[in-house]
Amino acid sequence: MIYQSMPKVEIHHHIEGAAPPKFIASLAREKNIDISKIFDADGNYAYAGFAEFLSTYEAACEPLTGPQEFYRLTKAILEEAAEHGVVYLETFISPDFCGGGDVSAWRDYVAAIEQAATEAERDAGITLRGIVTAVRHFGPDNAKASARCAAETKGDFITGFGMGGAETHLRPRDFAYAYDMAREAGLQLTCHAGEWGGSEMVAETIHDLGVNRIGHGIHVMQDPKLVAEAVEKGVVFEVCPGSNVSLGAVTGWEAHPIVAMRDAGLKVTVSTDDPPFFHTTMTNEFTMLNKTFGWDKADFDSLNQTALEAAYCDDETRAKIAKKLGKVT
Ligand SMILES: [Zn+2]
Repeated sequence: MIYQSMPKVEIHHHIEGAAPPKFIASLAREKNIDISKIFDADGNYAYAGFAEFLSTYEAACEPLTGPQEFYRLTKAILEEAAEHGVVYLETFISPDFCGGGDVSAWRDYVAAIEQAATEAERDAGITLRGIVTAVRHFGPDNAKASARCAAETKGDFITGFGMGGAETHLRPRDFAYAYDMAREAGLQLTCHAGEWGGSEMVAETIHDLGVNRIGHGIHVMQDPKLVAEAVEKGVVFEVCPGSNVSLGAVTGWEAHPIVAMRDAGLKVTVSTDDPPFFHTTMTNEFTMLNKTFGWDKADFDSLNQTALEAAYCDDETRAKIAKKLGKVT
């Protein structure tokens, strides 16, 4: 755990996916919602494979019934992240789980989450920004509603738009309308691609949605021409090795392409994705990168630097975080 206190920048993280299982279990008890089937005997989230992961994830969201629950959730996840040295975090927040795409309900959720973030910044020194996220398998109409919510709340806190969910559902161009809305509102754009889909999905996502970051993107390595294009365009990859290992997108840490990606000149960053689902933390990610590939302080400084440069925040915030990175290492 020598990397625990090292300051870290994390830019791929799902707010509900980070919910500690104990927090969700106790909230479910409070509300008399029976989701006991999603926990194993040790109280961890239980699932096998990606499809079951998505259904467990959605069940874990059931007790998160209103803005107040998201306020409590935000406090819990920021406390957890700060304990692992995270000084700047971007989390994906989905209107589908926060008011069902209704703009006025969504505003209340964002206000509650932002309030918790302000308090955590004061108390734990961690800065949070929100990326509004469409859930791909909920379809293009829901994505449009999410983009509308994003556009209506764009500001210092809500700074980006993205899409997660089942990657092989439809093609990126089917979601171009939602991305165009978000772009026109001045939001920065990312999208999950190349985790389950191949390099063609990464290519279509870059070309058809105009993103400057890709969530995961590990299968970009199947296409050297696309790698060269991504290097040239400066596309940033939000790599989540522990998540890939846990869900079986790669066969193990040794088989992870992060070293090859970096050696090819791609901009790589490291995040946890859904930490308790994947039994990981930022400390664990750094520790495993050290154990598996011998990465150390200079490598982690470089990951942080790339993530900070790619962060969806204003320059004043970026400068403040840069100071924190320089200070405590
Ligand atoms: Zn993700």
